Amino acid sequence: NTSIVLASRPKGMPTAEQFRFVTAEAPTAQAGQVLLKTLYVSVDPYMRGRMNEGKSYVPPFAVGEALNGGVVAEVVESQHEQYPVGTAVVGHLEWREYNVSDGRGLQAIPTDAAPLSYFLGLLGMPGLTAYFGLLDICRPQPGETVVVSGAAGAVGTVVGQLAKLHGARVVGTAGSDEKVVYLKEQLGFDEAINYKTAPDIKRAIAAACPSGVDCYFDNVGGPISDAVYGLLNKHARIALCGQISSYNATETPVGPRPEVKLLQSSALMKGFIVSDYAARNPEGIQALLTWYKEGKLQFEETVVDGFEQIPNAFLGLFRGENTGKQLVRVAEY
Ligand code: NDP
Repeated sequence: NTSIVLASRPKGMPTAEQFRFVTAEAPTAQAGQVLLKTLYVSVDPYMRGRMNEGKSYVPPFAVGEALNGGVVAEVVESQHEQYPVGTAVVGHLEWREYNVSDGRGLQAIPTDAAPLSYFLGLLGMPGLTAYFGLLDICRPQPGETVVVSGAAGAVGTVVGQLAKLHGARVVGTAGSDEKVVYLKEQLGFDEAINYKTAPDIKRAIAAACPSGVDCYFDNVGGPISDAVYGLLNKHARIALCGQISSYNATETPVGPRPEVKLLQSSALMKGFIVSDYAARNPEGIQALLTWYKEGKLQFEETVVDGFEQIPNAFLGLFRGENTGKQLVRVAEY
């Protein structure tokens, strides 16, 4: 039973050295427990924060201990009446080929509603983040302009499509020409900008938003946000979802400060963590599933195969290697 432990804390961009593979004997399920075979492992940008020491909204990973996160797994031994053998579950589990669980925090998932992996994506944390952040904080209205940064990722692809479903004009930023084409041609974004090659990001965003910006769903921060702040319309709403451009920073980034722009436009800027909305998860999953089944929402995944690929898939998030949700497939259901 191989697991991946945090070998050391990174400074700046993590490397493969921060991860150590450890092999131990396979566990078995005791009374009240299930043995779970890992099928899909989610790698997520927030895990970078957990590699640092110090308190955030989730406790840090411990050096020498297995990392953990969202996993879809299959019950392969059961001494727990709620989870018979063959049940597919999603939960917060360790990066191990097999986990033992007493059922706490596990959620059984249907095997026929959507691909099982979607419970780590569209119907899981990223989809819910898009749903609540956009619809509760940004509240896009028909004809308004919505800008989403990190538009081609797991959260961003859902945000853009939901904003279109609500009648908005949608502009996204992403890190490659392929992603720009995908956003416009596959997902129906009105405009998309490659922030890595745009000669002047401020001008590029301004040109894509001739009527200004009513909603900004921010996954990235940094210069893209600085460009958007100058374009805010009266009563603009900003959902602060992520700041991936600074997760590997070794010094606190100092940018143009947005306060005057927020003040002048009577704008709302609100940070949020998806778990703030945990009580409403069933509503979010139901709504996303319905739109998916009606063909109104698509969901892209970048899947690599093999447990040993987990660290590299995680590091790839910071190199923009994924379109949609980055997953590692460890075994088939
Ligand atoms: P993504 O699928 O969007 O993957 C990360 C993407 O970020 C990469 O594909 C890359 O795309 C982009 N990126 C990486 N480094 C940089 C950089 N320096 N500058 C700009 N873009 C960069 O991840 P998620 O959809 O899972 O998460 C998106 C954001 O939402 C993250 O900031 C995450 O922390 C946050 N989040 C917040 C939650 C909350 O509860 N508030 C919950 C879930 C996610 P590209 O090619 O475009 O550079």
